[in-house]
Amino acid sequence: MKQDEDCCTVMSPAVEHRNANVMMPALILMELDPSVVVAGERLGDIYIADEVSTHGKMRETCPVCTGRHLQLVLRQKEVRIAHLFCVQCTRCFDACLADGSSALNS
Ligand SMILES: [Zn+2]
Repeated sequence: MKQDEDCCTVMSPAVEHRNANVMMPALILMELDPSVVVAGERLGDIYIADEVSTHGKMRETCPVCTGRHLQLVLRQKEVRIAHLFCVQCTRCFDACLADGSSALNS
């Protein structure tokens, strides 16, 4: 029994790592109007939306805020389309593939 456990422990990290690379081609960021993406309220320069949950940091960084990784926001109650979100400048981006199609909304 002990041999089986050792085998599984060695195999799984390598498989996950390879899948992550295949699933993440280079993406082109396209800025979206937050009022189109999220049902919320505009307060001066910023756009406020309640009850929006993010799903972790992306490899992509905000083109405006250098080095700030974007958060993935999937479709949910207040969110009309999946997008990438910068918590610093509150900009929303769509991620497009090289052929111009959206990587998040297909
Ligand atoms: Zn930003």
